[in-house]
Amino acid sequence: MDQKVQEIVADLKAYLEYLKGMGIETLRVTEEKVEKVIPSEAPTLEEIRRELGDCKRCKLHRTRSTIVFGEGNKKAKLMFIGEGPGYDEDVQGRPFVGKAGQLLTKIIQSIHLEREEVYITNIIKCRPPQNRNPEPDEIQSCHPFLEKQIQSIQPKMICALGTFAAQTLLSTDAKITSLRGRVFELGGIKVLPTYHPAYLLRNPERKREVWEDMKQISAWMAEEDGGD
Ligand code: SF4
Repeated sequence: MDQKVQEIVADLKAYLEYLKGMGIETLRVTEEKVEKVIPSEAPTLEEIRRELGDCKRCKLHRTRSTIVFGEGNKKAKLMFIGEGPGYDEDVQGRPFVGKAGQLLTKIIQSIHLEREEVYITNIIKCRPPQNRNPEPDEIQSCHPFLEKQIQSIQPKMICALGTFAAQTLLSTDAKITSLRGRVFELGGIKVLPTYHPAYLLRNPERKREVWEDMKQISAWMAEEDGGD
């Protein structure tokens, strides 16, 4: 919640307490009035990027070269969310451009989509040193920006790539092996966890399972397109 909304909520609470003190327990408020008090529009990706600025909210800012915000269709129906930038991403400022990224491009193309048609980002926007796993405080600091990106794009489906993306989005510590291929719901958005492309590069025998997951996504996409 941004500061302005917090102030409005605090004012409203104080006012309701005051009315309660006067014996008034219920209030009728029209939708129109609520609309005027609380802004309902989601922020644009440009606004979110501006708010992120030259972010120093966690220690990863000390070692990164570039913030990797994300890229793709601002109104994508399908989002891919990975773990964090690696070396190539840190240098280029773009998500999934190294070897794992090339594999992700192929995975996207396998369901007859191009990268430009989906939105691609990560749980954290800065590369951890030596590509180590993101730490809980780093995920926590960066997560509000991912939430805003999702709010802005309003995808129908999210494909969570790997353990950290799946666990963060679904607020669970379950292993990716038990989450993979299952469909979850997050505020009206379908979430399907699958293996991270970097894991697939090390374990190519797992590609078949990812292919099965992509078939599920493809079926949803066809259903969605039919429903439009
Ligand atoms: S990882 Fe996120 S919170 Fe941490 S410095 Fe980078 S942009 Fe900021």
